[in-house]
Amino acid sequence: MKRTIYLSILMAITLFVTVSAQDNRIPAKGFAVFSGDGQFKPYEFTRHAVGDNDIEIKILYAGICHSDLHHVRQDWGKEEFPMVPGHEIAGRVVKTGKNVTKFKVGDLAGIGCMVNSCGECEFCKEDKEQYCKGVVMTYHGHDQFHNNERTQGGYSNNIVLTENFAIKIPANAKIEKVAPLLCAGITTYSPIHAVGVKKGDKVGVAGFGGLGHMAVQYMVALGAEVTVFDITEDKRVAAKRLGAVRYVNVNNPEDLKGLDNTMSFIISTIPQKYDPSIYMKMLKLDGQLCIVGLPATVNAPSIRIDQFVWQGGRKVFGSQIGGIKETQEMLDYSVANNIYPEVEIIKADGTAITDAYQKVLEGKVKFRYVIDISTLK
Ligand code: NDP
Repeated sequence: MKRTIYLSILMAITLFVTVSAQDNRIPAKGFAVFSGDGQFKPYEFTRHAVGDNDIEIKILYAGICHSDLHHVRQDWGKEEFPMVPGHEIAGRVVKTGKNVTKFKVGDLAGIGCMVNSCGECEFCKEDKEQYCKGVVMTYHGHDQFHNNERTQGGYSNNIVLTENFAIKIPANAKIEKVAPLLCAGITTYSPIHAVGVKKGDKVGVAGFGGLGHMAVQYMVALGAEVTVFDITEDKRVAAKRLGAVRYVNVNNPEDLKGLDNTMSFIISTIPQKYDPSIYMKMLKLDGQLCIVGLPATVNAPSIRIDQFVWQGGRKVFGSQIGGIKETQEMLDYSVANNIYPEVEIIKADGTAITDAYQKVLEGKVKFRYVIDISTLK
């Protein structure tokens, strides 16, 4: 009898704790795809409660990165649906946990591709959390710190995360242009600074889209002579406007003449199948080709290994976003130097997002779509 009463009390307490924890979950709404068809529809879900080290952010703007398209289209492998994409997020802090020191309610905050990581491995200790095996991605991930629940991204009205993975946005920032810096900005800023691009260097940017136009601006700001490579005539004027000295339409063989062995650094942001060897050949001795573009697995370009020998004395390497510390550095630098993406603001509306995806695929975006989340009904 005593044992039965004890068990009943225990069950009641467990139920109370579980229900309370669920009560603290935060309702969220946004736009999701329910399959790889790319059709965005309204979606309501919940986010985990604000823990002691967490902040809740009311999302103001969310950028549309080509990686979002790759995920939705399952270019890199099978995905889980419904999926709310969005890893270029700018917003305002509306709630803070009791241990939070970096933010207060009302501050602007940004989020990129990651919302947490193990914190213990060599990568986390070296501020390169993006390479941590336990990294929690902002969406399409599973959160090991919250019952492995699926994460959902920034095409939504709010998000909750540990303060350590939120970036402080200076109050004087052009807030409607900040979100793409959290991915397109850091992904290009990081390798450009890692290789030490400097005044007078002859450098190249292959793929002149969301990432590419940030790379151009960062390298022009460092005083480098930038050549842009893309597949259309439409962007020639924009390349010059952003400070490039040369625009090469790679579909025009005449444009490519005389460029072999001339560049000290080229960053490739190309999201489609292409021939990387044309860029390897443009590197001069000690030159470096950095690959950040991520074409679909079935379309992945390849480099023959003998080319590393024929073009010896040059390096080819890849780079993934950037760590949290460097992302903060990039954001402060970008705002201080007035370096922003060129954005087209769209409404938070399923049809508008679906259309924007189509236009990115057709090469019609100049240069980044940003969703104005304040228009979400
Ligand atoms: P965008 O679509 O905005 O830009 C891609 C650009 O590349 C477009 O201007 C496109 O032209 C151009 N392009 C396509 N094919 C070629 C070609 N053969 N030669 C030269 N240019 C070409 O994409 P994003 O900038 O948003 O993203 C680029 C890639 O970077 C994606 O694969 C994305 O997943 C990846 N990425 C990688 C990250 C990392 O950590 N490494 C982080 C974020 C993104 P057009 O518009 O005419 O088609």
